[in-house]
Amino acid sequence: MSQIFSTSIEFLKGVGPQRAALLQKELGIFTFGDLLQRYPFRYEDRTRFYTIAEITEAQSNVQVKGIIRTMEVAGGGPKKRLVAYFKDETGEIQLVWFKGLKWVLDKIKPGTPYIAYGKPSQYGRYISIAHPELEPVSEANLTRASLVPVYSLTEGLRNRYMDNKLIVNLQRQILQKVLAYIPETLSANILKAQGLILKRVAMEHIHFPPDPKSLARARHRLKFEEFFFIQLRILKMKLNNQEKFRGMVLENTVLVKDFYNTHLPFELTNAQKKVVRDIHRDMKSSKQMNRLLQGDVGSGKTIVAFITMLQAVGSGQQTALMAPTEILAIQHFNGLKPYADAMKLRIALLTGSTKQKDRKVIFEMLKEGTLHIIVGTHALLEDTVAFKSLGLAVVDEQHRFGVAQRSKLWRKNETLFPHMLVMTATPIPRTLAMTLYGDLDVSVIDELPAGRKPIQTIHRYDNSRLRIFGFLKEQIALGRQVYAVYPLIEESEKSDLKDLMDGYESITRAFPEVPVSIVHGKMNPADKDFEMQRFVKGNTKIMVATTVIEVGVNVPNASVMVIENAERFGLAQLHQLRGRVGRGAEQSYCILMTSHKLSKEGRVRIDTMVRTNNGFEIADVDLKLRGPGDLTGTRQSGVLDLLIADLGQDGKILETARAAAKEILDKDPDLSFPEHQPILAQVRSQSASSINWSRIS
Ligand code: ADP
Ligand code: MG
Repeated sequence: MSQIFSTSIEFLKGVGPQRAALLQKELGIFTFGDLLQRYPFRYEDRTRFYTIAEITEAQSNVQVKGIIRTMEVAGGGPKKRLVAYFKDETGEIQLVWFKGLKWVLDKIKPGTPYIAYGKPSQYGRYISIAHPELEPVSEANLTRASLVPVYSLTEGLRNRYMDNKLIVNLQRQILQKVLAYIPETLSANILKAQGLILKRVAMEHIHFPPDPKSLARARHRLKFEEFFFIQLRILKMKLNNQEKFRGMVLENTVLVKDFYNTHLPFELTNAQKKVVRDIHRDMKSSKQMNRLLQGDVGSGKTIVAFITMLQAVGSGQQTALMAPTEILAIQHFNGLKPYADAMKLRIALLTGSTKQKDRKVIFEMLKEGTLHIIVGTHALLEDTVAFKSLGLAVVDEQHRFGVAQRSKLWRKNETLFPHMLVMTATPIPRTLAMTLYGDLDVSVIDELPAGRKPIQTIHRYDNSRLRIFGFLKEQIALGRQVYAVYPLIEESEKSDLKDLMDGYESITRAFPEVPVSIVHGKMNPADKDFEMQRFVKGNTKIMVATTVIEVGVNVPNASVMVIENAERFGLAQLHQLRGRVGRGAEQSYCILMTSHKLSKEGRVRIDTMVRTNNGFEIADVDLKLRGPGDLTGTRQSGVLDLLIADLGQDGKILETARAAAKEILDKDPDLSFPEHQPILAQVRSQSASSINWSRIS
């Protein structure tokens, strides 16, 4: 790449050292290349001029041509403001500034024609525009491009009068200097096959689109490119993994068959069978398995994991299952123990609270190889946990563990890395999975066991609480149990705890005969566990709780989930909570309580929950609403710092980009063909620039 892209922005007209420092601080922009990669986040249609008579408060932004008749400073103290009376032949409006009065007074001359742009609002009998964009009328801005780019700015920049106009001007300067040097990064073949425009043209049109169609082409080209290089990197990594990491050949299925024929208490669903076959194939392939198993809450991932373990144990290896919380680890252990006993296999539980003397026994058995299955929490990662030969590690709820922890498990077998099965109950949209877990193979259980009744979800407003209580009474009379969940958000912890306690009181008042449990994060673990156990055993009928019960609790007899202030929960959380019911044979219900005041987004979330039980559909909506960072807590990972592409909107482009990247690597894994040189150059320049972290600190 040409040196010109690393020229400091200090050398642009209108910048200088101070503004350069500010741009660095506020936006992390150091060079021409940095600024050029800040694409507009929207465009303003500035073809239309309004007459003043046409302007109403209902409009968003309007553009008007007129003359400032006179200006005055009005009000005092915090209300001090500069008012300019701006007129054309149809009427008069006010332009108002609350800040930077002196600067505006210096700059603006009454009597000369200006173009004003901004959001009109009614103020007394005047329409006024606060802090309008104002520029003198000239030939150039009367006939300028129809779509004016808008860049994101910060308060810090605005306070120093660095506005959108300035950035537009800088972008224009840079483009003039560098346009001729913008290298093509894709091969001619790809451009042709995908119908993409040249990089150079795309860069020019993304900043200054001559028309909407050119803008669409530019956006498409840049999104494709962004996905393409991410996928190229991920696929290359996957290729390297497969070459480098030989795996144990685990092909003995005697135990699997025995279990299947004599102990498996139900028929596997077709989806489960398919996954079992995928895994079977992986484990005997002589390459290390790295597979992601996605399946909705209750789809039966655990039994698949167990069958997989049997294949490993049958082939003379040990296995581990790691869960993110102690509750979940205990539940897995209790679930698997009867199966393991039936198969005469040794299984143990290791968590932070395992006693020292039990630990010693477990560690010894692990070293000798006499312990076949170990279930546990992070405790499994400690250095003291050493296996004779770990052949398979299963990680449940992967999104709660980092990649670092995954690799720590790998190292538990130094001769050959163990096979890895990663399970997640939070469905991830396909697009996101391809990006986050693109180096893993993916299996999906997209089918619930037969005979499950879909949970009925309804939305009720707070004023129908009495009727809801009536319904709960009926359910409890039928012998069922009920969850009532309250939000607990750290910022509003105090009022949230009060809501929870108020809720608890009103429930105990409404159900005087019914034993009620309460659990929240501020209780000490022993009390929490005690209350939890009372509910699990059926001694209490109603569980009032915060989201501590979100993951893992399994009480098949619970058939109603009431979620209070449901509008305050995210979709993923609502789906997880709902998954706590519908685990038995009875019809289950999820009741979402909200106030009448719902934000637009809140309503979409509630409607989505009412409409579907499908976790993948919900995850897709969630991705569109929130963007990927929040969804996975991986905003920091960098994988998802996309410049222009959007995982929520651009799934199709991602799929084609991935396919194109795969096709190239299949033919030319080292990118050595002459036609692939532009691609190789871009890969190299990207990996060079990604090391450039140092300058940030
Ligand atoms: P999850 O995928 O949420 O981890 P689990 O593995 O906990 O789901 O399974 C939920 C319940 O469904 C368990 O009680 C399990 O025994 C049961 N189950 C799993 N597979 C089947 C099946 N094919 N038929 C009937 N019940 C099943
Ligand atoms: Mg599970």
